[in-house]
Amino acid sequence: MSAHGMQCPTCDEYGDLVHATVRQTGQQVIVCTECDFVWPHPEQDIDPAHATDVASLLAQSGLDDDWDELELGARVPPSPTA
Ligand SMILES: [Zn+2]
Repeated sequence: MSAHGMQCPTCDEYGDLVHATVRQTGQQVIVCTECDFVWPHPEQDIDPAHATDVASLLAQSGLDDDWDELELGARVPPSPTA
């Protein structure tokens, strides 16, 4: 294992999951910096069934598809059970 954070369930070792905040709405999400998948409900399981994508997430709030709308935060630490 590398020093990366939690693996993305859709792109595996390539992705790093990070916490992010939608600047305009304050919504807290988890996003993969590699494949643009977003988990709008971080309290749920981070799996493909709960994922959307950055463009869809921003569109739901009437925002443009622009990563600048997201304020990226800390990496999600690996699950202790992984
Ligand atoms: Zn990914």
